[in-house]
Parts: sequence; structure tokens; C-alpha cells
Amino acid sequence: MADRILVTGGAGYIGSHACKALAAAGYVPVTFDNLSTGWRAAVKFGPFEQGDLMDRARLDQVFAEHRPVAVMHFAALSQVGEAMREPGKYWRGNVCASLNLIEAAVDAGCLDFVFSSTCATYGDHDGVVLDENTPQTPLNSYGASKRAIEDMLRDFGAAHGLRSVIFRYFNVAGADPDAEVGEAHQPETHLIPLILDAVDGRRPALTINGTDYPTADGTCIRDFVHVMDLVDAHLLGLEWLRANRAPDGAPRTGGAEVFCLGTGSGFSVREVIDHAKRATNRPVPVIEGPRRDGDAVSLVSGSRRAGMELGWRADRSTLPQMIGDAWRWHQSGGYDR
Ligand code: UDP
Repeated sequence: MADRILVTGGAGYIGSHACKALAAAGYVPVTFDNLSTGWRAAVKFGPFEQGDLMDRARLDQVFAEHRPVAVMHFAALSQVGEAMREPGKYWRGNVCASLNLIEAAVDAGCLDFVFSSTCATYGDHDGVVLDENTPQTPLNSYGASKRAIEDMLRDFGAAHGLRSVIFRYFNVAGADPDAEVGEAHQPETHLIPLILDAVDGRRPALTINGTDYPTADGTCIRDFVHVMDLVDAHLLGLEWLRANRAPDGAPRTGGAEVFCLGTGSGFSVREVIDHAKRATNRPVPVIEGPRRDGDAVSLVSGSRRAGMELGWRADRSTLPQMIGDAWRWHQSGGYDR
């Protein structure tokens, strides 16, 4: 029988792509999601268990029923603006919820754990290409809550033999090239889907958040990773955990290993818009607006360790491919349009 993987947030953007990749690799992805931001229609590749991570009894039930061999933990609150306004929501919804999940996994003997963290745990290091050793100085409760979960995984590793792979990354883009799943946030706040909304008239224009930054064209710089490359890394992390297990009967050593996932180079907002014009062959109406609170000038991450130890490559993370795949998904109508 195929091994089951519990995928929290499996109805969300990255989680749904991970489920597709897991199913293609021969696993059964069991989605655990409260549908607060996810889509029931995105759960296509394995069983669905609706539930909330705050509900420990429900988690225990799902672990007992499916006996997953590992957890992939994507479910999270992830809006920086909201985190600034409502820190309690983030500490409870990310940290307390993850504590429940981690305790339930340990109690169920499910000790391999892949965690989707974020480069927002670093805070502002403008101009530096981030790596695993860059100091973590998060600027908001979103980054701080994710960093706390990383610490929690280390503690549970030392005490209970939990083995974790922690991925830190920034801007995820693109969609499943078959357009079976894609990016759909409600409300949408991310650059590429908003550009595509402006291209096809769902919005009147894309507002550029600030044109007076100290960059070549005055707009912010970001490092974009294709969602399919990102889920490849999660699968490689899972295989790495399973390949490095202690032999049966040997004492189990827990721990948490961090891998940054970036391309090492960034693109400005204006460069992304130019690529979108070419990829869609249509104009992008833009409005030049003021800076957005909390935006760093330039966020770029390397991935040397992931390349060397996991064999990860960000081959699909080119703007033409990411925008092209996002555009195909966008034109397919998404989940509810
Ligand atoms: N951005 C923009 N207009 C928008 C949405 C985003 O100019 O309507 C900019 C945003 O200020 C940032 C970059 O695009 O500089 C990427 O933003 P996004 O919200 O996609 O991701 P973030 O980098 O905040 O995680």
C-alpha cells in the first residue's frame, strides 16, 4: 500500500501543487485543511479531511485513521499587513496551531516533518543574498511566528526524535503547467496574479507600490520561484528524511535542517510587468502609487545548500515560464470564476 503523507494546507496554493507532486511520486497525499483560505476544488489528488489545527482531537483522529509516514506542513496565516494589525491571530493561528500538529505527530509516532517556513524570518537585509546562516530578525508577527515554529521543531527534535526539513523562501509564482491547480487568493495581494487581472480587465490597472526606491528603475526587487520547483524541493526534502533514517532498532536522533530556496537573482516590479506584456502579448495598464508599508527594497535568496545536499535546481523559475503558466491557469478560469 502506498505511503500516506499528511499535507496541512493541501487545499491552498502551494499545498495543492505539493499534493499533485506527491501523488505523481506514488504517495497518497491526505489534505488537512480548514478551508479558511483554501479551496475544496483544489483537493484532487487524495483524501480530504476538513479540520482545524487548533482541534487536537480531530488531528489525533486523522493520524489514527491514515497513519501517515510524514507531515508536510503548509497551513498558515501569511499576510504581513494583517500580521502587523493582529499579532495575536498570528501567534495563535501559526504557533499554537503548529504546536498542536507537532505534538499530535510525535504522539502518533510520525516523526518525519517537512516545514514550509519563510525568508520573512530574516527581516530586512537589503542587498544581501540570504542563506541559512543569515541572522533571523523578523519584522512582523508573520516572520516571528514562523521562526518560533522552527525553534519548536528543533526542541521536539532534541526531546522526541522528530526530524525536520525546514524550507525558507520568498515569492512563489506560476502554476501547474496542466492548469489543474493554481494560485487563487481571496482577496488577491500578490504581484503576478494582480498583473494578470489587469491584463484581462478584471481590474482596471496594476498599482505599482512605490517608484522611488534606490534601485535601477525605482521599484522593489524580488526573487521568484516557480511553485513546481518549490514542491520539488519539498519532495526532495521528504526523500532525504526517509533516506537518512536510522536503521530499525537503532536509537533515533532528531534534528531540524534548514534549506533556503531562491534563485540568487531578483527582478524589479517593472521588469515583471515587462515580462508579463511579452508573455501575454497584451498591454498591462499601470498606476504609479506610493510605497507599501513594510516592503523591503530587495529580497533575494541563494540555494547552495539545497543544490548540494538535496540536488535541487530551480530550472522552471524563469519569469517567462512562471508568468506563462500563471497566465494559462488564469485563463482557465480558476476554481470559482
Ligand atoms: N506589488 C505592487 N503592486 C501590487 C502588489 C505588489 O507593486 O499590486 C509589489 C510589492 O510592493 C512588492 C512586490 O510587488 O514590492 C511583490 O509583492 P507581493 O505581495 O507579490 O509579495 P511579497 O514580496 O510582499 O511577499
